[in-house]
Amino acid sequence: MVYSNQFDVAGIMVILTSLICAWLRPKFMKNFSVYLKLLIMLAIAYNTLDFATILFIKLKNPGTWFVTYFLLVLYFIVVFMFPYRATLYFYEICGEKCNPLILRIPLYAMLVLATVGNMFFDFFFKLDKETMEYSQGIGTYGVLLFYLYCAIIVGDCALKHKRFLGIMRLRMLVVLFFVTIFNVVYQVLFPEASITGLVLALSVALLIVVFCFIDVTIDDLTGLNNRIGFIRACDELMHKQDMTGYSMIKIQIYHMQELNERTGMDNGDKVLLLLADNVKKAVEQNKHKAVCGRIGGDTFAVLTDEELSINTMAESNIPDFIQNPLTGLDYAVSFYAGAYRLEEGDNDIDSMLDHAGYALKWVSGNFKTNVAFYDNDIRKEDEHRKAVEQKVRNAIAEREFKVYLQPVCNTMTRERVSAEALVRWIDSKNQMINPSDFIPILEKNGFVTELDLYVLEDVCRMLRDWNEVGIDIVPVSVNFSRVDVEHPGIVEDIIAIVDKYELDHNLIKIELTESAFSENIGNIINTLKRLREAGFVIMMDDFGSGYSNLNMFKDMPIDVVKIDMYFLRNIENSERGMIVLESVVQMAKRLGLEIVVEGVETQEQYDYIRKLRCEMIQGYYFAKPMPSEIFPDQVTAG
Ligand code: C2E
Ligand code: MG
Ligand code: MG
Repeated sequence: MVYSNQFDVAGIMVILTSLICAWLRPKFMKNFSVYLKLLIMLAIAYNTLDFATILFIKLKNPGTWFVTYFLLVLYFIVVFMFPYRATLYFYEICGEKCNPLILRIPLYAMLVLATVGNMFFDFFFKLDKETMEYSQGIGTYGVLLFYLYCAIIVGDCALKHKRFLGIMRLRMLVVLFFVTIFNVVYQVLFPEASITGLVLALSVALLIVVFCFIDVTIDDLTGLNNRIGFIRACDELMHKQDMTGYSMIKIQIYHMQELNERTGMDNGDKVLLLLADNVKKAVEQNKHKAVCGRIGGDTFAVLTDEELSINTMAESNIPDFIQNPLTGLDYAVSFYAGAYRLEEGDNDIDSMLDHAGYALKWVSGNFKTNVAFYDNDIRKEDEHRKAVEQKVRNAIAEREFKVYLQPVCNTMTRERVSAEALVRWIDSKNQMINPSDFIPILEKNGFVTELDLYVLEDVCRMLRDWNEVGIDIVPVSVNFSRVDVEHPGIVEDIIAIVDKYELDHNLIKIELTESAFSENIGNIINTLKRLREAGFVIMMDDFGSGYSNLNMFKDMPIDVVKIDMYFLRNIENSERGMIVLESVVQMAKRLGLEIVVEGVETQEQYDYIRKLRCEMIQGYYFAKPMPSEIFPDQVTAG
C-alpha cells in the first residue's frame, strides 16, 4: 500500500471484469457461490480503501486523523480477510472443508493485531497525530507471511485435487503463486512502492476469466458440475476410494425439445432447475460420497454408492416434483433413468456413462417403469451393438456385404416382374448376419448411407453385366433408410451411381419404409420428388406396419405401395383382417398406386390375393431371397 495510485488500474479491473462476466454470463454469475461474491467484494474493498487512505494521508490534515486511522485499520482487516476468503473459496471449488483451526487461528491473531495491537505497538503502521506522517510497522511483513501461509494451504489442497482441477487451473495456480512470491520480494525491495493491490486485482480477474470462459466446469443454468466437471469429479473420487457398490446413473427428461416447444424455454429451464435440485438433494441425503452433474442439455448424471438412492431419486422424489403444482405446467413431464453398477477394474468414466445411457435408452418411453439397470439382457444387446460397430468398419472394404435378390411376381401370370435387393452380411467367420441385426445399428451411427449406396452400386454393376451377356433383366428395388433420405446430396449420389453403369433410371426402384414418412416429411417429400423427376420408381415399403397418417398419403410422391406382411398373418381366419386389407387395397387402387403384397407364403394366401386383384406378390410362396449370382438361373416356383 501507500503512495501509489493502483486503484485506478486494479480496482477498475476487478469491477470491470466482474461486470463484463455478469453481463455476458448472467446466469453464471447468479450461480457463483457466496464465497466468490465475497471475494470479489473484498478485492473491490481492498482497492477502494487503498485509494481512500492514500488520499487522506496526502491531505495531511490532523483534523481527519481518526478517519484516516480508522480507514487504515479497515484496510488491514481486508488485507487479511482476502487471502482467508480466497483459500476458503478454493476449498469450496475442490468440494472440501478446510480445517477451521488451520486458518482461523492465524487470521484471528492477525485481526487482533490489526485492531488492538496497532493501537499500542504501531504494529502495522504509525500515523503521527500532529504531522500526519505515515510509516509502516514491522507487522507488514506479517501480511506477506500470512499470504504465503495461505498459498501453501491452497497448494496442499490443489495437489490433493489435481484431477478435479485439471491442468489449466493448476497452471493458473502456479502462475498466481509465483506472482505472489514476486510481490513479496518486490515489497521487501521497494517497501514504498507496493504493488499488492495490482496483484490482487490481477489474481481475481484471472480467476473469474478462467472459471467463466476458459476452463468452465460449472453448468450455467443449474450451478451443478457440467460434463467436464462431472468427469473430473468422478475421476478424483475413483482415485480416492474403493468404488465397490457404486453405480453410475444417467437421468434424462423425456422429449425435452417438445417440452420447450410446447411450454416455452422458460418452463423448460424451470423443469431442469427442479430436477437439478432433486438430484442435488438426493446426493446430499446420501451420506457417502457422491458426485452429480448436468452433463447434457436434458441429461443429468450421478455417481453414487447406494443403489437405494437410485430408486428414491427415480421413483419418489422426481415424479413428486413433476406433478407438483409448483411447475404449473399443463404438460406431463416425465423422465427416465438408466443405472450401471460399477464392476471391478472399471475406470473409464465415459464407458460407464455409455452403459448407463444404454440402459436409459432401453427404458425411454416405457409406461410402466422409468428406471432400467444395465443387466445381462441389456449388456448382451449393447455388446452386440459394439461388436457390430467395430466389425462394420472393415466390412465394406472387405466386401463382406452380399446382395441377395427376392423376385416380385405378377399375381396372374406368375412371371417375375422385378426383384428386391436385400443385403446379407457374411462376416469374416463366414457367418451370415441378417439385416434386422445390423441395419438399426448402422442407422444410428449413420453408416447405413454408405451401405445402401454400396448395395445400389452392386445392383447396378450386376444389371449392367447381365445386360452385356444377354440375360433378360428386370427392375430391381433397393431399400433406403430414412437416414439416407436426409443425407445432403443423396439424390446426386444415387443418380451418379446409376449413370456410371449407363442404366435406365426406371430399372431402379427406391424403397422407403413407411415409418420414414412420419416426421419432418417436408424434407422427405422434396427428396422423393426429385428422385421421381429423375425417373426412379418410388415405393412405400411395409405399408400398414406403422401408424401412417392416411391424410398425408395423398400428398406422397409414390408410385407403388408394398403392403406389409403383417396383414397376411392369419388372414384366412380373420374376417376383420380381410376387411382391413381389402379397404387398404381399394384405397391404394383408387389413388392410382400399384400394389405389391409382401410375405405371401401359402397357397391360400396366394389365392386370396389373386381374388383381390393385387398386381404383384413377393414372398416365400414364389421364392426366398437368393444370392444374386443364381437369380437369373432360378425359375420361379409355384
Ligand atoms: P423389407 O424391405 O420389408 O424386406 C422384406 C423382408 O421380408 C426381407 O427380410 C425378406 O427376406 C422377408 N420376406 C420376404 N418374403 C417373406 C415371406 O414370405 N415370409 C417371411 N416371413 N418373410 C419374408 P430381410 O432380408 O431379413 O430384411 C429385413 C429388412 O431389412 C427389410 O425389410 C429392409 O427393411 C431391411 N433391409 C434389407 N436390406 C437392406 C438394405 O440394403 N438397406 C436398408 N436400408 N435396409 C435393408
Ligand atoms: Mg423392402
Ligand atoms: Mg417390406
